[in-house]
Amino acid sequence: MADDLQSSAIVWFRDDLRLADHPALTAGARATTLTCLYILDEDPAARALGSASRWWLANALRALDADLRTLGQRLVLRRGKARDVVCSVAREVQATQVYWNRRYDAAGMATDDAIAAALKALGVRGGSFPGNCLIEPGRLVTKDGGPLRVFTPFWNRVQSLGAPRLPMPPPKELPPPRDIRSETLEDWKLEPTAPDWAGGLRATWTPGEKAARDRLADFLDDIHDYADARDRPGKPATSRLSPHLRFGEIAPVAVFHAARFAADHGAPSRDIEKFLSELGWREFSYHLLHHYPALATENLQKRFDAFPWLNDDAALKTWQRGKTGYPIVDAGMRELWHTGWMHNRVRMVVASFLVKHLLIDWRRGEQWFWDTLVDADPANNAASWQWVAGSGADAAPFFRIFNPILQGEKFDPAGSYVRRWVPEIAALPDRFIHKPWLASPRELAAAGIALGKTYPKPIVDHDVARKRALEAFAAIRT
Ligand code: FAD
Repeated sequence: MADDLQSSAIVWFRDDLRLADHPALTAGARATTLTCLYILDEDPAARALGSASRWWLANALRALDADLRTLGQRLVLRRGKARDVVCSVAREVQATQVYWNRRYDAAGMATDDAIAAALKALGVRGGSFPGNCLIEPGRLVTKDGGPLRVFTPFWNRVQSLGAPRLPMPPPKELPPPRDIRSETLEDWKLEPTAPDWAGGLRATWTPGEKAARDRLADFLDDIHDYADARDRPGKPATSRLSPHLRFGEIAPVAVFHAARFAADHGAPSRDIEKFLSELGWREFSYHLLHHYPALATENLQKRFDAFPWLNDDAALKTWQRGKTGYPIVDAGMRELWHTGWMHNRVRMVVASFLVKHLLIDWRRGEQWFWDTLVDADPANNAASWQWVAGSGADAAPFFRIFNPILQGEKFDPAGSYVRRWVPEIAALPDRFIHKPWLASPRELAAAGIALGKTYPKPIVDHDVARKRALEAFAAIRT
């Protein structure tokens, strides 16, 4: 491009910490010099990352910097209010253009609009690209121009548009960097030190684009039985791509086309279609976030504003620590604490337990997940919590209350998941593993359990809690 011949571009990385299928980087690759920038946004309007996400981010940035260096580039790190930082870096490198891939949270979009205007005033071209969804959030609307609120018609419409565009390859070469100051990851203190609680995260995850690609390939090589086994927390049946997708280490279009390729080469289509529909739920969450910017803070169904939450702090803490006395709930909460991730089925069970058995506002659960999940996602987390609480679009009705005992028995029948995460009850026979309080004193003693001492008694009785939840719901039922 003639006008790019003597150009100084900035590519601003955000939720897209990758080189492949990065439209903004592809555009920046045509400039004469290039500044690859990541900003730790300290704008109070932006939601601060949770602790587990900060750990992931540090490692993802390290991996991205290493990948950029193989192309003679490097990542420039700056901290501050994003609007100020972008403009000051643009001045430092005498930028002619600044490129980024779009994001869809309200605060992020407001920042991007303000930056685009400020750059224009500086005479710098700003360019934004779609890159983090299969379909641009907001593109699909009802006949009246309103949001689609039900998943199945949404996903049918997405599919009727045909396959998304093919992923772009990573650039083979990049323009040289400008010599400007970068902060260091050590300056940012994203990783915990005193205490260093991230041992479980390090043992479980490898952040970065290469790890994301490898994980996808391994998963698709062995996808058989995903459609059924994905609900079994004791089986490693799901892709575990969620933190990689959250931080954009792999693009959804790359995942989509790799899955379709696998189906064309012998992978069972039932499993592939189910997997793609899960990606569809991610799209749906972003679509909801676009239409409801306050998704993480406001009930989509306004009648829930009057819900009589109990919000008992002690009960919240018991749930957070995995000490409710319901093994499947406790196993999930401990998996989360230890690894920064929790199996989807168990996320539904623990969320339902918090909201319905303990009558704690879903926003407090959302906040805990935001802090502890490595995949804490502005769209998926909020949409899923509202789905479980019954306050969302296309939500599970509030009166459908998961029974944590039956959920455990159905989806973890041999108790392997519970035994892994709640070792103090591991020696119980299968028939009591999801309801230790029904074991006789002799059986408990044989398993080395002193109920109420080595493992808690249930924090609430299921039937009593269920009745209480239905009464609370009756107060807002219209
Ligand atoms: P796979 O089954 O392999 O699915 C592939 C991808 O599809 C996932 O990586 C994810 O990007 C997407 N996906 C799968 N299930 C869902 C779903 N139900 N909703 C939206 N997208 C989905 N997911 C997050 O990525 N971040 C969150 O913060 C988050 N919070 C959640 C909170 C609650 C209360 C619940 C019930 C679910 C939440 N989910 C969240 C959705 C889901 O649990 C995870 O995406 C999934 O467990 C990730 O595991 P996986 O990558 O192995 O999934």
